[in-house]
Amino acid sequence: MNKKQRLSKLKISAVAAALSIASSPILANHNGEHFGYDNSIGNGTHTLPPNWGAGADEIHGKCQNKFAQSPIDLARTSITKNTGDNQMQINYFSSKFNVVANGRGVEFKYPEKKGGSLYLNTNALTGASVGPEYFVEQFHFHGPSEHEIAKKSYAMEMHIVHKNDAGEYVVLAVMIKPDYRNTTNNVLAPIWDNVSYFKLPRNINVPLVLTGAESAINVENALPGNRDYYQYNGSLTTPGCDEGVKWRILTTPITMSWPQINAFKDILTGTCCTNGNNRPIQN
Ligand SMILES: [Zn+2]
Repeated sequence: MNKKQRLSKLKISAVAAALSIASSPILANHNGEHFGYDNSIGNGTHTLPPNWGAGADEIHGKCQNKFAQSPIDLARTSITKNTGDNQMQINYFSSKFNVVANGRGVEFKYPEKKGGSLYLNTNALTGASVGPEYFVEQFHFHGPSEHEIAKKSYAMEMHIVHKNDAGEYVVLAVMIKPDYRNTTNNVLAPIWDNVSYFKLPRNINVPLVLTGAESAINVENALPGNRDYYQYNGSLTTPGCDEGVKWRILTTPITMSWPQINAFKDILTGTCCTNGNNRPIQN
């Protein structure tokens, strides 16, 4: 995909017009709607991070595994060079996606296998990609960051979630920090410009599903040029906290302007997560 291709403008008004509320049972379902990060908004009965996985809840049950839970603090010594056999191959498409507000953040979800894919390794001799192929499912944001790097937290963290045909996850993460010149992130601006259209619902038991986005954005264009990364095997950072997730966290952060970062903070404060939508570090 041509990186210089102009991004088409999000036609978010069409999204807003197509806004629909998916009915959802109040009890936990497989989307885990009843967990949260704090009780600042809503019905005050959210299951908070320390209790994710408490009891015999089949949805949250894996969150209290202490074998390979995420996020963690990453040590600078564990950097893997993105070269040779370790070279990731990212082939994302400029694609339409839906906006899914689930009460804890906003997801930008691609139709199945329509967002492109990722290979974790490359044959250093032939340059051929080494399977399996992980298809990008959705990307979303946390603020502050979930992972820390040598005890340092970042303003935000973007997660690009991939799954292969065997149901195994790879999450590619990139830290986001304020640009020192306060320069706008133009790749993500089409989303951020319309941030008010998808304020999160106050009642976290009712997921808002925004459909019909006529937007096309290639999220690869948001990634830094340097693809060196930290890697470890962890878990999803939301219930059910499934383990076996292959994490790749880029060592080079990307930047956003302060207004962009503050806009995200405002959404969280006004809706679900006054202190952020980040799961604490797991030991
Ligand atoms: Zn995430």
